[in-house]
Amino acid sequence: MLFNVSGLMQEGIGATRRHSVQGTLTSEEHGPERLSGDIELLRTKDGVLVRAHLNLVDPETCSRCLKPLEETLQIDFEEEFQATLDLRSGQVVREPLDPDAFTIDEHHMLDLTEAVRQYREASAEMQPLCKPDCRGLCPNCGRDLNAGGCDCNSGPVDNRWAGLAELLGEGGEQKDRPPSGGASGGGGTMGRGRRSRPKMAYSRRGKD
Ligand SMILES: [Zn+2]
Ligand SMILES: [Zn+2]
Repeated sequence: MLFNVSGLMQEGIGATRRHSVQGTLTSEEHGPERLSGDIELLRTKDGVLVRAHLNLVDPETCSRCLKPLEETLQIDFEEEFQATLDLRSGQVVREPLDPDAFTIDEHHMLDLTEAVRQYREASAEMQPLCKPDCRGLCPNCGRDLNAGGCDCNSGPVDNRWAGLAELLGEGGEQKDRPPSGGASGGGGTMGRGRRSRPKMAYSRRGKD
């Protein structure tokens, strides 16, 4: 996802461009995923502000019944890409203005890929479901319980699958602290894991 912004950089602050995006985002964790949408580029004092409105089709499977899903993730963000050339002299700026900022390279190419990847990771569902109340598969006979019951009648199916799903998906963040002696209640770990991660804030900066 490379965009040549040399024309935009020659215009004044406030100049805009709009591009539609069709492509594929490839990451180690998720493989290739289809991407579409549009971006708006706004020339700023130090570079280009990108406003992205993208949809990403995420081939997934339901974490309970394993049915294939095509989940669409909406990825919206706003990021300023800083120029690495001084705009007046054409010289390479020695010190990046902000070491964490995305940059436009010395050939005026703006590469959106890494930014999209970061926001994509932040908006991923931990345990995608085909529907919120998916009943999953019978652990005994493997039948899809959404299609009706089976003959196993094997007790609290969901709990077993929730336990397995936690092992597979949650990686241990569900345990807040070990149970201290005497406290009643317990039961705090089950069913708490299924919320998606909070969306990343629109700017990565400004955390003091
Ligand atoms: Zn399902
Ligand atoms: Zn069964």
